[in-house]
Amino acid sequence: MGERVLIALGGNAMTGPDGSAAPGEQRAAVEEAMRHVRALVADGHEVTLTHGNGPQVGNLLLKNQLAAEVVPPVPLDWCGAQTQATIGVLIMNALGPGVATVVTRTLVDPADPGFADPVKPIGRYFTEAEARRFEKLGQTWRRFSRGWRRVVASPEPLEILDAGVVTALMAEGFTVVAAGGGGVPVVRQADGSLAGVEAVIDKDLAAALLARAVRATVMIIATDVPHAMIGYGGPDPRPIGRISLPELRVLHAAGHFAGGSMGPKVEAAIRFVTAGGARAVITSLPEIAHAMSGNVGTQVEKGL
Ligand code: ADP
Ligand code: MG
Repeated sequence: MGERVLIALGGNAMTGPDGSAAPGEQRAAVEEAMRHVRALVADGHEVTLTHGNGPQVGNLLLKNQLAAEVVPPVPLDWCGAQTQATIGVLIMNALGPGVATVVTRTLVDPADPGFADPVKPIGRYFTEAEARRFEKLGQTWRRFSRGWRRVVASPEPLEILDAGVVTALMAEGFTVVAAGGGGVPVVRQADGSLAGVEAVIDKDLAAALLARAVRATVMIIATDVPHAMIGYGGPDPRPIGRISLPELRVLHAAGHFAGGSMGPKVEAAIRFVTAGGARAVITSLPEIAHAMSGNVGTQVEKGL
């Protein structure tokens, strides 16, 4: 029996091993990723895709910064929308007919504490003089040991605003690509209208919201390691296989999963299963088809 599955693809699946995001490498990485996705579709599963965009949005940001004297820099949320479109086209070309990409907005709270104290560094290092110039455009820059870098908020995703479009396309039989890069962050203004904000939404947390919104029963987070591990980086790392929600919560609270990498994946898995998803899987890209049918990767279920 086919299941409805949401697959979240990590940066390595979109950019190739060195992360430089040269066009040819992106195309090759996406084609390789879609080989594995196609296996799931061929098994009769109804697939929805989301993906990261870190290196791509970083490159666009850098172009804006370097060309600022010549071409007016565009806001970060515009860069995010651009990456959704370009990565979406690569996926559509690689997967073949019957695929749609939805430019997707994710609602965030303007009172999210991240906006008052942005801490997520993006783009490359610049000199203090350059940083001061960008500060005049309303950006926040911080001094790090290697130089000055822009920082932005990484607010909690509250709602995938365009999820209704995604489910309508799914009902017509389309494989849908949505909420790339966590979605374009928007806030609701006092008059009810929506406005983009310059922030970065964690793609794994947005994936958990999207997976619930489209009523996926399984969420697979595809990354570059086959399992989440206990004692990662230490002398005796141990892979986590099947695990219950309560057990995973205990490990998460004990700090086994690094913030900004495995931490948000584990958090997303916990949120998805807590909200009623049947199963969340964290594994490497080549394992995703096996993970659907067998006991591969880190498999999170409510109770075992
Ligand atoms: P993606 O681009 O797929 O989101 P990330 O680099 O954000 O990938 O997260 C995957 C990385 O998380 C792994 O390559 C690994 O280095 C790191 N990591 C941190 N803690 C753990 C852990 N406990 N178990 C496994 N990997 C971990
Ligand atoms: Mg990541």
